[in-house]
Amino acid sequence: MKKLTVLGSTGSIGTSTLDVVARHPDRYRVTALAAHNNVEVMLSQCCQFMPDYAVLEEASAAEALEKQIRNYSLPTQVLSGSEALTTVSQLDGVDTVMAAITGAAGLLPTLAAAQAGKKVLLANKESLVMSGQLLMDAVQQSGSILLPIDSEHNAIFQCLAGEDQGKTTFAKTGIEKVLLTASGGPFLRHPIDQLSRVTPDQACAHPNWSMGRKISVDSATMMNKGLELIEACWLFNLSVEDIQIVIHPQSIVHSMVSYVDGSVLAQMGQPDMRTPIAHALAWPERIESGVEPLDVFHLAEMTFEKPDLNRFPCLSLAYTAAEAENTLATILNAANEIAVSAFLEGRIAFTSVPSVVKQTMEEVKTETVGSLETVLEADQEARHAAQFWVSRAAKEEVI
Ligand code: NDP
Repeated sequence: MKKLTVLGSTGSIGTSTLDVVARHPDRYRVTALAAHNNVEVMLSQCCQFMPDYAVLEEASAAEALEKQIRNYSLPTQVLSGSEALTTVSQLDGVDTVMAAITGAAGLLPTLAAAQAGKKVLLANKESLVMSGQLLMDAVQQSGSILLPIDSEHNAIFQCLAGEDQGKTTFAKTGIEKVLLTASGGPFLRHPIDQLSRVTPDQACAHPNWSMGRKISVDSATMMNKGLELIEACWLFNLSVEDIQIVIHPQSIVHSMVSYVDGSVLAQMGQPDMRTPIAHALAWPERIESGVEPLDVFHLAEMTFEKPDLNRFPCLSLAYTAAEAENTLATILNAANEIAVSAFLEGRIAFTSVPSVVKQTMEEVKTETVGSLETVLEADQEARHAAQFWVSRAAKEEVI
């Protein structure tokens, strides 16, 4: 019986994880669940999975949950605060931690799980973007296993025939290129001159995937693919030149690896996150995920094209950050979180997202990533600068 902590249990990845777990009560037991402030969903998850611990980071929400847990006489202990996220990531007896908190808030608990030698199922790509070296070092020092949940990275992992992540070297495995696929999001064919008027709901209406709102906007700007480029460099020990981003609007091929002998291995499947979640949960075994088999006889055509950097300026910014190999990736991530949140709140236009990120990257001084403190300082400084550029954009000043 494997024991799990699910960080971000109330979100899109968290609920998909629990859906897979519920199909295998003989294999998995949920020891801890953690989220931000969603009392209602957390309570229903506690009723179903009876974890030992439930964390709501926000204190008032945790208090409300605690009352309900007592009303229902559940055996769960309720915790709050960011330290509690770290506590449940390092619990003795827990084998596996699903890291599915969104954004920079996921960094410390993910790092804590890696330091404690847990098997880390990494959905929170922001951890690697912000502090790739520190996370990979922690994995290596503790003997932790890091398995990618992002469908593309999970696909690459599968095409690498199970080579240990972070230990794969380019020359040894005979890789010619990693082909990182992207759907292109909802605005792939939208007239560029009308992008400034798109709404948050339009940006979140992804053609193939159902996801949380932040990552949905990142897909629409293609910043998500930029973050994934950086993530792939860390996970598979690659450089930017080793990776080709390929637009594949049907989201059936989840990524490919091209080898020097001419072989190209692709992983295909329905666009449903339960497949990579089940793969990583059970790896190196396979378990049923609840996902319908792919019916190859009913596949529409599969097409592949190069991304247009004029349409997706966030992608260029991410290339710059990936090549810099310093805190620029942390700065990019922080500025993007602030800009996306302002866009979702209706404060700035969709097209101001890359402008805010660019201005912040130009303004904030970069450092070598030597320690966690350096990363957290860069993150804070970038958030501060990005807030300024957001208010400028909101006032419709030229930025
Ligand atoms: P959601 O917005 O759906 O869920 C986010 C989760 O994080 C919620 O459980 C939320 O809790 C929790 N959370 C947010 N802030 C905090 C905090 N400060 N402390 C504790 N918990 C917090 O996001 P997704 O599930 O879509 O994405 C999660 C991660 O997975 C992201 O890093 C994303 O990039 C990555 N990912 C997602 C994919 C997808 O298909 N959705 C695909 C690949 C990667 P609450 O509900 O209480 O607010």
